[in-house]
Amino acid sequence: MIWKRGIAKLADTATEALAETLWPTRCAICDMPGAVLCERCCAELPYVDWWRACKRCGSPFGLVQCDICNPIGLSRLGIDRLPFEACASAVHFCGDTGQIVRVFKDQGEQRLAVDIALIMARIIPPEWDYEAVTYVPATLSAFRYRGYDHAELIASALADRLGVRHIPTLNRPRTRDQRKLGSKERISNLAGSFAPRDDPETARSLILVDDVLTTGATLCAASQALRQSGVEQVRCLTFARV
Ligand SMILES: [Zn+2]
Ligand SMILES: [Zn+2]
Repeated sequence: MIWKRGIAKLADTATEALAETLWPTRCAICDMPGAVLCERCCAELPYVDWWRACKRCGSPFGLVQCDICNPIGLSRLGIDRLPFEACASAVHFCGDTGQIVRVFKDQGEQRLAVDIALIMARIIPPEWDYEAVTYVPATLSAFRYRGYDHAELIASALADRLGVRHIPTLNRPRTRDQRKLGSKERISNLAGSFAPRDDPETARSLILVDDVLTTGATLCAASQALRQSGVEQVRCLTFARV
């Protein structure tokens, strides 16, 4: 049996080497062969300046006066307080970062999950308290289309990096397509759309991962479901922020 496994492993390695020769790994942004995201492109990403961002909601220029987590901003989201302790995003959503997300989600380059998770891990504020990492689950149709849950891949890689557990906590029943809705409609469309899993592993404090923050409605709805299921502290972390 051992020699059979050895031969199978050799065959896998040979197949990988052949595939790499025929279709070399290329940078998602500049197309240079060698890595799914080259060092130069990674260094030049439009990182969010954490010193100018709101420490509560992560709004990139909200340190002095936040335009999101004040009573007027929250009323636009249809809520009176944020259901999470904090939120942070690594990069601004733009052409290059959008390209990374597209190659990862729509072109099936799952290896980018590790690079994305590394970038996210670097910006976690030292004061954040977390026992485990969880994620915003993809819609059923997105999961069927891609064959994998993109946020789960990021959460898994991030948990490995941080040395904590990665736990699935939420299910996602059907909702209308969010892309055609405004902020308030997104919240009401999402209200109750996340349900705790039947037998989730528990954690007192969690990092909730998603790829892109658009209006914050999805993270609010998922955080609310986690709080209702008994999680005491939720801190949201996304790769990009619109
Ligand atoms: Zn590159
Ligand atoms: Zn804020």
